[in-house]
Amino acid sequence: ESISSPVEMFFFPFVGGGHQIPMVDMARMFAVHGATSVIISTPKHALSFRESIHRDQQSGRPVFIEILPLPDNIDIADSDMSATPVTDTSMLQEPLKKLLLQRKPDCIVHDMFHHWAADAIDNLELNVARIVFNGIGCFASCARENISKFKPQDKVDSKYEPFVVPGLPDRIEMTQSQLPVTQIVQDNMRKSKENCYGMVVNSFYELEPAYVEQFKKGNRAWIVGPVSLYNRNIADKAERGKKAAIDEQTILSWLHSKPPNSVLYISFGSSPRFAPQQILELAHGLQASNQPFIWVIRNVFKGEGAEFLTEFEEKMRESKQGLIINGWAPQLLILEHGSVGGFMTHCGWNSTLEGVSCGVPMITWPISAEQFFNEKLVTDVLKIGVRVGSLDWLWWNMEPRVSVGRDMVEAAVKRLMGGGEEGGEMRNKARLIGEMAKKAVEGGGLSYKEAIALINELKDRRRIIE
Ligand code: UDP
Repeated sequence: ESISSPVEMFFFPFVGGGHQIPMVDMARMFAVHGATSVIISTPKHALSFRESIHRDQQSGRPVFIEILPLPDNIDIADSDMSATPVTDTSMLQEPLKKLLLQRKPDCIVHDMFHHWAADAIDNLELNVARIVFNGIGCFASCARENISKFKPQDKVDSKYEPFVVPGLPDRIEMTQSQLPVTQIVQDNMRKSKENCYGMVVNSFYELEPAYVEQFKKGNRAWIVGPVSLYNRNIADKAERGKKAAIDEQTILSWLHSKPPNSVLYISFGSSPRFAPQQILELAHGLQASNQPFIWVIRNVFKGEGAEFLTEFEEKMRESKQGLIINGWAPQLLILEHGSVGGFMTHCGWNSTLEGVSCGVPMITWPISAEQFFNEKLVTDVLKIGVRVGSLDWLWWNMEPRVSVGRDMVEAAVKRLMGGGEEGGEMRNKARLIGEMAKKAVEGGGLSYKEAIALINELKDRRRIIE
């Protein structure tokens, strides 16, 4: 390709829900800034974003999809959204190498869970800049790095005894029960980062300035988010990753019927799994709070509790207190609506950042992975949320037990949404941070500038190589 042709960037997302969505957004963002973005995927995983990419192509800022040719009998995890960080994706190695040899982009941005990509790509010696996608932000990255380096958890007696995370700008206490990252995940991430050209981070400077600075001391990084803000039309907001289980008009007219800042939106990400008993406690707590709510319930259970839930749904419909979405929700559309005044979230990084971008304060209910770090950022650093008080991870061990009782739910909802001073302060602060998020990705904003800087650097690099 000639020196003047657009920079070609490959994006190679991991297959799990919370990984693919932001990388598709990021590909779109770099395309808006003039790069040629190409998303690398498998036949099955490409299905979930084909339509939105098609819309982009029609609107004249095309993102392309390149499907890795896979032998018929191979694919990853059966359900398109359930892959875990330890899901082995190494069968994609040979098809990926073949593609890179044919097309030789300027860079490939790959998820840190594709750890095998490090050797595979570096060994090709193609001079393709290998960039790692950091989908968890600087606070969690720094906390995790420091914990794995200094092992403060080894110095306390029990897994519920708090320790201070060493070396952070703020005093952050955690317990070992909140550190679910397994060694294999750590190793995989370390492998990805070794010898990489740099990292792109889905965050923005103003959100976590001290942590961005600390992160940049140890890593070459471009902070370019929040990438969800590049979903600019209703269709893209309503349908990220999957078709929503409720149509836009229904949800919007329900929201319009509620006062500003009154609705609590409740969702636990792409693969929530709660014990039936826990779901019932949540339902009771919500009802008792008297606050209007939209609750996304996925993987609805059969048997124990199912009948209660059907009745509850009916009751909430009649009283108009609550709307239950059984399936995939149009999350961005909901969060952006002026009637929404709170977000009960599992603190997945994408959800956290989406809540922040929409200026909505939160009730934090972390379950696994780096979600406990994100909770700390929201409650202790930004002070835009209240903890529901979940103790440790239910998702991985899936024990049928309750960690959050109905009274805890009710108390948290009232604290945030009940009209008190504390909730009001959090709401104001959240709104200000939301405004900063939007400024960050507009012309002149820091995330905007960093994205352009990366494109320019890749262009210069091409000159040097040639
Ligand atoms: N999401 C959605 N509808 C749903 C559930 C999730 O659009 O019903 C989106 C959500 O907006 C976010 C992503 O799925 O972009 C979930 O990512 P997150 O990091 O929050 O959690 P994970 O699914 O990885 O646990």
